Amino acid sequence: MKSVCIIIPAYNEEKNILPVYTELKKVIAPLAKAYTFEILFVNDGSSDNTIGEIEKLTQVDETVKYIDFSRNFGKEVATTAGINNCVSDACIMVDADMQHPVELIPEFIARWEKGKDVVIGVRKESKSDGWVKKIGSKLFYQIINRITEVYIVPNATDFRLIDRIVMDEFKRFTEINRMTRALIDWLGFRRDYIYFSANDRLHGTASYSFWKLFKLALNSFVSLSLVPLKIAGYLGILITLTSGAAGLYILLGKYVFRTYFASTFSDAENLAILILFLVGIILMSVGLIALYVANIHGEVISRPMYVIRRKKL
Ligand code: UDP
Ligand code: MG
Repeated sequence: MKSVCIIIPAYNEEKNILPVYTELKKVIAPLAKAYTFEILFVNDGSSDNTIGEIEKLTQVDETVKYIDFSRNFGKEVATTAGINNCVSDACIMVDADMQHPVELIPEFIARWEKGKDVVIGVRKESKSDGWVKKIGSKLFYQIINRITEVYIVPNATDFRLIDRIVMDEFKRFTEINRMTRALIDWLGFRRDYIYFSANDRLHGTASYSFWKLFKLALNSFVSLSLVPLKIAGYLGILITLTSGAAGLYILLGKYVFRTYFASTFSDAENLAILILFLVGIILMSVGLIALYVANIHGEVISRPMYVIRRKKL
């Protein structure tokens, strides 16, 4: 019998633990003949009684497991801990606030049985989103897909199933600043998508503020791409080329061709062009250093060089 683990990161979700557990139980009951289920909560340093609620469940249901963080580490790390501690054949990550429709779980499992290694829940646009969030996320996906090597499907969520082989590969990532779903995307494998519309949060408020999301976005640009690093260098090339051309034009005009136009530049203006030229050179050097830093960055996060799906030697 195959085993499936349901991973639920929870931060200040005391009122949601019982509802999400009850819902889950209802959904997985019909599948109990074919699969064994485990529910793994990761309490991400909640300041409310989330852990108490989880412990209550463990007393009545031995398939409920938990990891209790010493403090808040963020959802990305919480889901990572869940994946790294999961021993099942597949795991499904679900938010504690019931925004992910758990009734789709049988569908996730069905796609997995059809041979997909990663089944990704993709969120249809929700009307409750503010325009800042909408525009922000559009921009985010446009930028990230332009500058990174892996394609990230817009609005793909953490609500996803991953197979054992993907979990094992996932464990090889060593970076601390991470976006779990982006790393799973980076791994590749056979992917499938399930579209869903998100429910409203059951209790409490979303802890991902605009600022936190912004930082997460910036973080994923930096960790998935070198383009931000190279911007200084490109800027330097642009400035050096234009000011160099202008400087050359004035020099030649003044001393070789003796054109009237070149002689109209004041000393201050000539100096400004010279300074621009030097600034351009400095920026280019920064860009060059950035390339070395990028190289070091690439080595220290020690991403797997390649990922094997199956082997027959
Ligand atoms: N979460 C977490 N650690 C945090 C913030 C959130 O484990 O620091 C959990 C939270 O309990 C929920 C899920 O991550 O189960 C999604 O969080 P939230 O609903 O706040 O964000 P959003 O719905 O905006 O993605
Ligand atoms: Mg939520």
